[in-house]
Amino acid sequence: MARVKPVDAMPALVERLLAELGEDPSREGLRATPARVSRALRELTDGHETDIDALFQGAVFEQDYDEMVVVRDIPFYSLCEHHMLPFFGTCQVGYLPKGRVVGLSKIPRLVGAFAHRLQLQEQLTNQIAQALSDALAPRGVGVIVEARHLCMEMRGVQKTGGQMVTSCMLGTFRRDARTRAEFLELIRRR
Ligand SMILES: [Zn+2]
Repeated sequence: MARVKPVDAMPALVERLLAELGEDPSREGLRATPARVSRALRELTDGHETDIDALFQGAVFEQDYDEMVVVRDIPFYSLCEHHMLPFFGTCQVGYLPKGRVVGLSKIPRLVGAFAHRLQLQEQLTNQIAQALSDALAPRGVGVIVEARHLCMEMRGVQKTGGQMVTSCMLGTFRRDARTRAEFLELIRRR
């Protein structure tokens, strides 16, 4: 049986959106825009399809290392779920292993998988911390996200710059002020 490729409904919706905005979707500069916007939106939300367990598969190692592991300044780009406008910044991730570590390249990929969704910064922060905690069962996890939100910066009278900072501390990072202080010191050090 011949498989019929399902029709992508999104370009037609973007074309309608352009018309609603008072644009002429048939003019030269906009002719390819519906297809481009559709591709961009699919790419920027493809994290919904990432299987987090599969992402960690083969990259978690038993190891007798019990010092704090920190990955600093991981850049990310996301879309806020309220306006579908970008928010973006950097993410600091730390954990205190309890016999298991993860390949370092997986942590930025984890951040990317959660960022490429319609998101809230608080939720993004919590999801990264929780996923790492689930995968490694470490003594603790700390995640700090700093981001600029274009929905705040570009719109109306609320042209407030500045960064929004969120954090999620689990296990010893939450309970023990010294662990937290060590994490903050490690991400501050340059
Ligand atoms: Zn927003």
